Amino acid sequence: EQSALAAIYKQSNGSPPAAIVAHPNRVKAVFVILARNSDLNGIRKSIREIEDRFNRKFHYPYVFLNEEFFTDEFKEQTSSLTSSPTHYGKIDDDMWGYPSHINQTHAAECRKDLQDRKIIYGGSEPYRHMCRFQSGFFFRHPLLDAYEYYWRVEPDVNYYCDIDYDPFQMMKDKGLKYGWTLSLTEYMATIPTLWETTKSFMAQNRDLINHGEDSILPWITDDNFETYNGCHFWSNFEIGSLDFFRSERYLKYFNYLDAQGGFFYERWGDAPVHSLAVAMMLKKSEVHFFNDIGYKHNPLIHCPIEQWAHKKCSCEKKDNFDWTGWSCLTRYSELSKDFIWDEATHLNM
Ligand code: GDP
Ligand code: MN
Repeated sequence: EQSALAAIYKQSNGSPPAAIVAHPNRVKAVFVILARNSDLNGIRKSIREIEDRFNRKFHYPYVFLNEEFFTDEFKEQTSSLTSSPTHYGKIDDDMWGYPSHINQTHAAECRKDLQDRKIIYGGSEPYRHMCRFQSGFFFRHPLLDAYEYYWRVEPDVNYYCDIDYDPFQMMKDKGLKYGWTLSLTEYMATIPTLWETTKSFMAQNRDLINHGEDSILPWITDDNFETYNGCHFWSNFEIGSLDFFRSERYLKYFNYLDAQGGFFYERWGDAPVHSLAVAMMLKKSEVHFFNDIGYKHNPLIHCPIEQWAHKKCSCEKKDNFDWTGWSCLTRYSELSKDFIWDEATHLNM
């Protein structure tokens, strides 16, 4: 499949390879970028690197989302960087804003408290709407209806290495539902009651929780479920199955969390929310560590050590975050000995 696509691409002689875009077995996949108009420069840098390292060969489309209308300048200066289709969507109030059960006076008091305690984004109202949208809504935006996989992109990230195969195709072929590249422990002051809430969800929904041999749950607790160790996949990079997030089981979890109000009364992030759901509901064999994708979101870098030369990486190996203190990769590797070297990444060495 992969080499057939490569052959078509070669034949296309550098002109836009319509044959690839129209390929019948092509994964329905998309880059998803939530951004403000003021993020334009940072988004341009990110797209430039995505295109250079991957998408100039694969031509996946982009969806841009914003709770305000994108400016013509934003649309022109992003679409001009890619030969792929670009779509720009407005997020309506039903996906961005306060649900009716939230006490907004209390929410404002909580923000002030977190602000006074100097907790990052603690005083920010838009940041909370953003985290709730990314937790419960982006995958339900109408512009994503046509797709089965997404790849999240943020402003000012770096892609350091060639991505010379199709991660979407790889995920679909292997039945993978969630892919990540950096993991770390969460700042607990942002999620004081997330774990208790999640534990009561687990207790009430035993049928939705994977406690089997292939469970990821041991990764998120060091004391047999007494406490959450904070480990989560950093959601500014994600390649995932939209159908997983649209599933009844995921939405049940999101709605349960949303009812508790912690997106507003605390500062629950979409990263721990996605990660706890993945850990509760998926199997190890459905989750993929993209060890071969060199990536930076300030201040953390994943720099592939073993494939650094082969993938033409431009990061410095010494900056790799993987085995340092806050990283959760050591714990993750305890789940499974062979998770790092799967075929797709190893064969290309
Ligand atoms: P951080 O990575 O947690 O420091 O947060 P960012 O500022 O990078 O925000 C995460 C993502 O959400 C980025 O893609 C931002 O462009 C986007 N974002 C954050 N706040 C807003 C907002 O108020 N409106 C919109 N449209 N996008 C936002
Ligand atoms: Mn960011």
